[in-house]
This record gives sequence, C-alpha cells and structure tokens, in this order.
Amino acid sequence: KYRVRFAPSPTGSLHIGGAHTALFNWLLARRTGGTFVLRIEDTDLERSTKEYERSILDGMRWMGLDWDEGPDKGGAFGPYRQSERMYLYKKYARQLLDEGKAYEKEGAIFFRIEPGRHIHFHDEVYGDIDVESERASVNQDGTIKDIVIMKRDGMPTYNYAVVIDDFTMGINMVIRGEDHVINTPKQLLVYDALGFRRPHFAHLPMILGRDKKKLSKRQGATSVFEYSDMGYLPDGVFNFLALLGWSPRTGQEIFTREEAVEIFDIKNVTRKPAVFDVDKLNHINQEQMKMMEPHKLLEAIRPFWKQMGLPVEKFDDEYLASSLKTLGGRGQTTIEVAEYSDYFLDFSKVTERYDGKEIKEELRPKLKKIYGELLDAWGDGTPERLQDEARQIFDANGSSMKESATPMRWALTGRKVSPGVFEVAAQLGKEETKKRLEFYGL
Ligand code: GLU
Repeated sequence: KYRVRFAPSPTGSLHIGGAHTALFNWLLARRTGGTFVLRIEDTDLERSTKEYERSILDGMRWMGLDWDEGPDKGGAFGPYRQSERMYLYKKYARQLLDEGKAYEKEGAIFFRIEPGRHIHFHDEVYGDIDVESERASVNQDGTIKDIVIMKRDGMPTYNYAVVIDDFTMGINMVIRGEDHVINTPKQLLVYDALGFRRPHFAHLPMILGRDKKKLSKRQGATSVFEYSDMGYLPDGVFNFLALLGWSPRTGQEIFTREEAVEIFDIKNVTRKPAVFDVDKLNHINQEQMKMMEPHKLLEAIRPFWKQMGLPVEKFDDEYLASSLKTLGGRGQTTIEVAEYSDYFLDFSKVTERYDGKEIKEELRPKLKKIYGELLDAWGDGTPERLQDEARQIFDANGSSMKESATPMRWALTGRKVSPGVFEVAAQLGKEETKKRLEFYGL
C-alpha cells in the first residue's frame, strides 16, 4: 500500500504548483487505496506562519483534496509539523555524529559526503538517474560541499528533515515537483548513511506559462483562492491540473474526480514540461459547470450575482436554478455565467444596455399587435408552446422570425446573443415578459 505525502512549507498560500503536486499524491493514494499524509514543513521560522498553514489547508479543502493524516487530524505517525519533530532530527544527527558521518563546525552540523560513491535511483517518471557522490553537492569551484543538516539556529535543513520524516512516517513513494530532482541524490546519501530503506520517487514535470517560461505570479502561479475569485470551480481546477503532465490512456479530457481516480496511472505522467493554458482551463471549467447539478451550480453562482448587486433574495431557488438551466451552458467562468444571466434577476440591467431606439417606428404597431397576440396565446407558457404560437402568429401577420423575435430578444435580455427567446420568455413568465415589452413601447 502506498503511503504518499504532500509536504508544503507554510510560507505562502496554496498556489497552483503546490496544488498540482498535492493532486497527484491524492490521486495515487485514492487510486490504490493508500494513505495521503499532509506534513507541514515549517522549519523556516522566519517565513512560516500559522495563517499560511491554515490557508494551505483551506486551499486543499477547496480543491477537494482530503488527507488521511495531518496536523489537524493526527495519525499514528505524528506529529505532522516539522517544528514538533525536533527530537527526531536531533536523535539522528547524534547518530550520524557518533558514527563519524557528520561533524560540527561553529554550531552547525554537516553531513560528510564521501567521494567515489555512485548514486543510482529509478524515478517513476524520469527513469534511471545516476550521479557520482562528488557531483551531488558542489561548491562554485566544483569541490564537494558537505551538506548542512542542522543549522546554527538549531533547526534542521530541508534535505535532512525530509529524509528523517519520510522514513519515520513510512512514506514509500515520494511525489513532488521536478525542481527537487537535484535534491534527491543528496537525500539518498542520508538515507543510506542512516540505513533507512529508500522510498520510490516520482517527480512531476514543471508547469510553464504560455511563454514557455517558469510559471510566474502573473501567469498563474497564484493562490488557488484567486482562481475561485476569477470564476473557476474546484472541479474545473481539479480537472485542469490533473491534465498538466498527465493524460489518461483513453484520451478523455473531461472527467469527474471519481473518474480521475478510476483512470489514474502514474505511468502515464510525462516528462515534458506542462504548459498552463488558460483557454484550456476556461474550456474545462465550462464543461464542468455543464455537468453540475442545477442547485449546486446555483450555489456557485449566487455569490457572484450578489457581488454584482443583483437582487438574488427576491427569487426562490427554483427560479434561480431554472434560470441557469435556461442559460444552457453559456459562460466559461462563474463570473461569466453570473453576467450572462443577469436579466433573469434584474430588468434594470437590460435597460442599461438597451434603449430600444433602433426599433423602427413604422414597425412598432405591427410588433405590438404580434406580441399582444402572443401574450394572449400564452397558455401553459412552455417554450414549445410559445414557439408554436409565435410561428403561427408571425406568419399570420406577414412577419418573419428575424423581424419579430429580434426586438423581443433585445427587450427581454438587452443582448444580441442569448438562449432561445421563447425559452427566456418562458423562464421570465408572462407578466415579466409583458412588462419588458411594454417598457419599450412594444
Ligand atoms: N517543503 C518542500 C517544498 O515545499 C517539500 C518538498 C518535498 O516534497 O520533498 O518544496
């Protein structure tokens, strides 16, 4: 059984790169019935904060990446914060000192790198990697640089603590970003020196911006909550991140979490750097919204409507959910969906956009007559019924769909493009439809 871990440093919120790493660990754990451990690497006392730790946990919850053991949950291998595991780092440093594998200099403890040792490991993604020990950690002039394991302030360094923790927490598969490949040989030397059994390693390809450069703050390397604010759903971000550096053998691009777990195979992770393509994220987010149950979608959209100042509280959930259904999958983000559907909640949004001036005066009496007849023929007000009646009424009055339906669409939605006008009318209801047409003198 795999025991995998995500080991963020609480020096910032959960950003896209971290979420990507966490996601692949989660997928492997869930795929194989293994255990997903969350460990907080807070040995950088100056930059680590409780707020960031909380924010990382919240970000993981937002993404739907639940962990089995962690600082908030406990577990048999705790504690799950490095700052609470000092006794372990000291114990093993003592052992290395006693065995002559480490030495002290001015308060810091150094791990001695023996030259002439061949380091080999097999990476699940990058394949066989071979490094000579004298190349594993070097000074600028090329000489061997012994590894600091305990700093003068008494705190362990990353390359040391990570080994102690992965071993003592029973981690048997380390999945992390490709930027850590260069650290792995150093860590392996420590594993071997302590007689620890090595875990398996899988390094994930880098995520690049569209400019093919390392993902920058400007290009997506931001907190997952910013994605929420920008109108992306957890399911959309999840699906998108899963496809960065991995694709299922089936080629399937849109999938639920459950499906992802079912089809995930670490063997299909690629070495090629993955490009963060916003268009693709938009597309996936849209497809995920289309798959959402209407009331769940409603809860995702509601805060954005409120933010836009729309009178959400005037309507019941049935009406709101069915308005979104009427919108028919338009909009790539929750923000767009909220905007595109504004006319279902607030007629003043329509009048802000449309003043009705381009309706030809000579056409008005005819349109008025046609719309009057349509309102009289409303019946049960289903879109089908309205469409049938409209066809006959337009025909009988010598008008076309284009001539009669276009001003109606503008009057109801204030937009050139919208769902079918009879669907919109059916959703608004007879009174509201009448009111809007009359406002424009139709
Ligand atoms: N705290 C390290 C980081 O945030 C963990 C790296 C690892 O997974 O070993 O990069």
